[in-house]
Amino acid sequence: MRTGKGEHGKPYPLTEDDRDDSAYRENGFNILVSNNIALERSLPDIRHPNCKHKVYLEKLPNTSIIIPFHNEGWTSLLRTIYSIINRTPDILIAEIILVDDFSDREHLKEKLEEYMARFTKVRIVRTKKREGLIRTRLLGASMAKGEVLTFLDSHCEVNVNWLPPLLNQIALNHKTIVCPMIDVIDHNHFGYEAQAGDAMRGAFDWEMYYKRIPIPPELQRSDPSDPFESPVMAGGLFAVDREWFWELGGYDPGLEIWGGEQYEISFKVWMCGGGMFDVPCSRVGHIYRKYVPYKVPSGTSLARNLKRVAETWMDEFAEYVYQRRPEYRHLSTGDISAQKELRKHLKCKDFKWFMAAVAWDVPKYYPPVEPPPAAWGEIRNVAANLCVDSKHGATGTELRLDVCVKDGSERTWSHEQALRFHV
Ligand code: UDP
Ligand code: MN
Repeated sequence: MRTGKGEHGKPYPLTEDDRDDSAYRENGFNILVSNNIALERSLPDIRHPNCKHKVYLEKLPNTSIIIPFHNEGWTSLLRTIYSIINRTPDILIAEIILVDDFSDREHLKEKLEEYMARFTKVRIVRTKKREGLIRTRLLGASMAKGEVLTFLDSHCEVNVNWLPPLLNQIALNHKTIVCPMIDVIDHNHFGYEAQAGDAMRGAFDWEMYYKRIPIPPELQRSDPSDPFESPVMAGGLFAVDREWFWELGGYDPGLEIWGGEQYEISFKVWMCGGGMFDVPCSRVGHIYRKYVPYKVPSGTSLARNLKRVAETWMDEFAEYVYQRRPEYRHLSTGDISAQKELRKHLKCKDFKWFMAAVAWDVPKYYPPVEPPPAAWGEIRNVAANLCVDSKHGATGTELRLDVCVKDGSERTWSHEQALRFHV
C-alpha cells in the first residue's frame, strides 16, 4: 500500500541536478537518491510463483548476519538494516553484526551507535586498522554466535522471505554454502530488478573475471524455483554453517582489501567435501557501484589475491591464467604454506576434479586454450556504415559499434563472436 518515490522498487525520477557526479563520489552510487527514498521502502516480490507454496523445515538454525562496511553512506546502510528487520522472522536472527573497517566518516561513529541502540540485535564491532573486506568479514565471523553465518554487503535490501530458503538448504546438509539471487539496485535511480538472465551459474574466465553462464539442461530442475548448483559465488552475499566455515579455515587471511575471496571459498567448499547452491526463492538486492569510491592501500592488489588463490587451489590450471596475465608470474604471493597445509589436512580433491565434476560447462564459454579464430576481417553494418569494435573492459571483452577505421577494424573473431554477427 505504500506510495512515494522509490516505493515498490520503482526508479526514482532523477533531475539533471541529481545526476551530478558529486552525488556519486563518496559511495559510487547516488546518495541523494538514497536519501530521498524511504528507509523502509517496499520492494516488488519478483520471486518465481512457486516460491509462495514452498514449505521449509519447522526448525531452522538461527543465524548471525554479518555486514562489513567501509565508509558506507548513512541511508544505504540503514536501509540494509531496516530491510532485514522488516523481512526476516525475528526468531531466526541470532544477531546482526556490523563490522566497521576503520571508516573515517563522522556519521559512522557515535551517531551510528546511538541510532542502532534501538535495535536490540544489532552489535557494532570495529577493526583497529584498515583490514579490507576479507579480514573484516573474518572479524565478524569470529565474534558470531549464531548456528549459521550470513554475510551481506552494507548496501543491500533483502526481499520477501529471503532467509528461510537459505537456512533450509543448510539444515538439509550443513556442508552446503548457499547464495541468494542477487538483484540489481540501480546506482543512479535505485530501481529494483533481477539481473539479466536471472537464475544463472557463477563462473569465471581465465583472467579470473567473474562470469555468469546459463544453467545447462542437465542441471535444470523440474521446478525452476528449486536450488541449483553453482561453481563459484559472486562473493558478497551468502550463508554458511558456522562450524563448517571454520572447518574450511574461514577465508585466507592473507587476502587484502577486495577480491579473490569468492573463488577461494567456492573452490574449497567444492573440493573439500561440500557444495554450493543458488536459491531462487531467496532474493536480495545489491547496489552495484558505478565506480570504487574508496582508497585501496598501496602494496595490496587484486592480482596478488588472485595469485594466492590460484597457487593454492588451481594446480596446473593456474598456468592458463599466467598465459593471459604474464605479469602475474613475477608477483609474490607471500606465505601460502598454511593454505596448502589446510588443503592437505582436509584431503581436498584437485582442481582437475573441480573442472570435470562441478565447472564442466565453464570451458564451453571460456575455454582454457583459445580455439583458433573462426574468422578474420572487418564486420561492418552496411546501413549505419559502422564497424564492430572490441574493447577490453571490466567484464571482459565488450563489443560495440564504432566508426570504421581503415586497416584498424580488421581483427580475428572467435567462433562465439562470429555466430553473434551471423558471419
Ligand atoms: N568493505 C570493507 N573494507 C574494504 C572494502 C570494502 O569493509 O576495504 C566492505 C564494503 O563496505 C561492502 C563490502 O565490503 O559492504 C563489499 O565491498 P564492495 O561493496 O566495495 O564490493 P562490490 O560489491 O562493489 O564488489
Ligand atoms: Mn557491494
